[in-house]
Amino acid sequence: MSEAPEGRVLALNCGSSSVKLALLDPRTGERSLTALAERVGSDSATVTVRRGGFASVSSPDDSSHRGVVEHLVDDLRDAERDSLVGVGHRVVHGGPDFRESVVVDDLIVRRIAAVSELAPLQVPGNLAGIEAARSALGHLPSVAVFDTAFHATLPPIAYRYAVPASWYEQHGVRRYGFHGISHRYVSARAAELMGVPLSDLRLVTLHLGNGCSGAAIKGGISVDTTMGLTPLEGLVMGTRSGDIDAGALGYVGPRLGLELSELVDELNRNSGLLGLSELSNDMRTLTDAARDGSAAAGLAIDVFCYRAAKAVGSLSVALGGLDAVVLTGGIGEHSADVRAGILAHLGGFGLEIDPVANAEHGASTGGRISRSEHPIALVVPTDEELVIARDTETLASG
Ligand code: ADP
Repeated sequence: MSEAPEGRVLALNCGSSSVKLALLDPRTGERSLTALAERVGSDSATVTVRRGGFASVSSPDDSSHRGVVEHLVDDLRDAERDSLVGVGHRVVHGGPDFRESVVVDDLIVRRIAAVSELAPLQVPGNLAGIEAARSALGHLPSVAVFDTAFHATLPPIAYRYAVPASWYEQHGVRRYGFHGISHRYVSARAAELMGVPLSDLRLVTLHLGNGCSGAAIKGGISVDTTMGLTPLEGLVMGTRSGDIDAGALGYVGPRLGLELSELVDELNRNSGLLGLSELSNDMRTLTDAARDGSAAAGLAIDVFCYRAAKAVGSLSVALGGLDAVVLTGGIGEHSADVRAGILAHLGGFGLEIDPVANAEHGASTGGRISRSEHPIALVVPTDEELVIARDTETLASG
């Protein structure tokens, strides 16, 4: 019997103004290198590369996504380059066609470019990273891993909007959902931690980071999620409003003298926690401010928690019951206060928080932060890079 192929994967996540890279072992998740480029596209772009405990900071000559990825690839040592079996790319939107990860060729690049209108802030950066890696490391397969793919299983009752059918038929206006890489990882990991087959579980996963979304995962399959055509729908986020009455735009636009595109920009960039608090989009800052007596910060956190809890309720309808709520993302993994705030609304489901386990983020209870036997709540740190690396290795070796 042949052994599993040896080798490492370069996982790349090109965001709108940042590039994250990890060189990792797809079997163990061990990182031999991580890198973060910030302020990509501006004159002040910086690249920080970490190997073990050592960090080095540099400035790329060309601060575009492509320039930064080339800079990062140039920085690889020969042994690191030689260990690679493939390059995996996070791609935010795969439209209706991409239902799973794929090896990238010229046709796939054109097909991804064709859906970039659906996520114009993110997909062009994703594509620039793919092109740069393909030209700098052309001997290796590049694999695209889509944030939307895990939600390709949504049934029409979950993905159709109640708008004129021609919007869907002629323009593809439907719900796609995002954060699928994270929802997929934490649902599988939650099943491992619970010691129950994923196929037997009804899970609501809450990915709470700068962007936030919930998913209803039945037997390992995504059956509903809170984000929609774009990552603006659903929960309250750092700067995004989540759900809002579309009629409010028609009402407030003329009063503010703003065009529709400017209003959508307000909902994406100046709303959410930032809009409510008029202080910050960062949950740590808001938690500190609320402790220091800021009523606006307290309200922003309360609205955030209430809306997340309401989503658990509606996603439980999609599941026909609830076995566990799984919390992840920067806020879900690290903020005991926010987790407590969310779970406080879910007593009617029989969920009762364990304050001691919650305070230590479930560290000594296998992630479990509830006292109740059923349903339970779990903290599960996400690892999107590991999913990207595993899919890349599988497709590269296939
Ligand atoms: P991204 O979605 O950009 O990957 P993260 O998943 O890192 O972001 O989440 C960022 C959010 O997590 C920020 O609102 C940050 O304040 C919050 N966060 C991180 N650590 C803590 C903490 N210890 N307490 C409260 N919030 C935290």
